Amino acid sequence: MVSFFRRNKPDAAKTSEPARPSTGSRYSIEELAAAFPGATAPVEDTPAAQPAIEPASPVETVAGQTQAIVPAADAATAPAPGVSPASGPQPAALDLPSASERERFVRRLSALPPAEAAPAVPAVPAAAPPGRTGWRERLRGSGFARSFGGLFSRNPKLDDELLDEIEMALLTADVGVTATTQLLDDLRKRMKAREFADARALLAALRADLLALLAPVAVPLRIDADARPFVLLTVGVNGVGKTTTIGKLARRFKDEGRSLMLAAGDTFRAAAVAQLQAWGERNGVQVVAQGQNADAASVAFDALQAAKARGVDVLIADTAGRLHTQQGLMAELGKIKRVLAKLDPAAPHEVLMVIDGTTGQNALSQLRQFHAAVGVTGLVVTKLDGTAKGGVVFALAREFNIPIRYAGIGEQPEDLRVFDAQAFVDALLPESLGG
Ligand code: GDP
Ligand code: GDP
Ligand code: MG
Repeated sequence: MVSFFRRNKPDAAKTSEPARPSTGSRYSIEELAAAFPGATAPVEDTPAAQPAIEPASPVETVAGQTQAIVPAADAATAPAPGVSPASGPQPAALDLPSASERERFVRRLSALPPAEAAPAVPAVPAAAPPGRTGWRERLRGSGFARSFGGLFSRNPKLDDELLDEIEMALLTADVGVTATTQLLDDLRKRMKAREFADARALLAALRADLLALLAPVAVPLRIDADARPFVLLTVGVNGVGKTTTIGKLARRFKDEGRSLMLAAGDTFRAAAVAQLQAWGERNGVQVVAQGQNADAASVAFDALQAAKARGVDVLIADTAGRLHTQQGLMAELGKIKRVLAKLDPAAPHEVLMVIDGTTGQNALSQLRQFHAAVGVTGLVVTKLDGTAKGGVVFALAREFNIPIRYAGIGEQPEDLRVFDAQAFVDALLPESLGG
């Protein structure tokens, strides 16, 4: 049990840098290519141009293994392996941390400073008040809000200089070249047509345009009650907030009166399994896990089998973070998806990709690759509080038209909000700026 932790870096979950090229002022080649698609060689592949991804190993092996663990005849009555909190002792074959180890782990985690410490951002309350005020409060420090902060008071006149400043602010806030060009073309045309009486009217038009960009993707997640369970598979690169988001979602679903189960599919780091188990234990939610280095697809299979047997409403599966450029690991995600579909052809019902809002334009290539590998059906953009610029949300909406289900605007459970396009635009670019 001790070796369970010694083999790993227990605090890696908290302290390791997300696997992304950069969030600072220096940009990687990939980010630059994403920001300026026409300027360089086509680094930004289209999904169709991706090399075909081969399955890592035959799916049958996994199914056979897990069936051996959970005999089909017993599935309806026997508890699933590794389900916790279990009333009896854990099966001997499972290399799981003990309750005291998990507790120690949780204590260590809470003692650590936040991974995304944001000293430049004004202090925010521990829990955002509900409603739109919470959004504004939390996004006040965003790059977007700051870029536009003094813009209209510096440029009160309706002229080309104002348009140039707006263009610069949008690009600086990570809105991306394509969406920015589209927004500016519209404003310029309407300004020439003398549609705006003053700068304030132009601001109103910009706000409306931004809202129009987001409205098509502000589609909340609907849990299909006929799916039993409704299976959510979370994917994304390292450190973006997948496990945290699962905890927040689980709380939300529980509050809605749904029964649920979690699958500890990040088998790569023991700390990740413990993180999910600790959460499950505190909140009375069952977590299906196998030992570290178990086949993630096998964990998913076990979990779905157990969830089906118990008639659970929702199953949320965690996965290990992986770089979108790692073909082998991306193929592993495809395998998880195929294994789930063996038990329920409609599963997973939602492939939820978690994107770190501080990532910048690299988020576009992440989504492109994950979408090609597993077909992303919904997005969660996290860490929009803190140092996120916020503009990448518009770029994602413009480029992919994939529903943005939730936004993470803090670390508390209630800080995972159903994505509200109006509240988001109001928070980044308040109407009052022009006054
Ligand atoms: P994973 O590797 O994708 O599973 O990421 P984790 O769930 O372990 O989260 C990594 C870090 O991001 C943790 O410190 C979380 O508390 C933090 N985090 C996740 N979502 C948010 C958010 O919406 N806002 C802030 N400020 N931090 C977040
Ligand atoms: P490091 O601590 O920064 O060296 O990175 P990690 O310990 O997270 O990963 C080490 C190696 O394992 C890398 O080459 C990753 O590509 C690989 N890896 C990361 N996640 C997974 C996973 O979920 N499954 C498998 N099979 N390999 C992984
Ligand atoms: Mg995780």
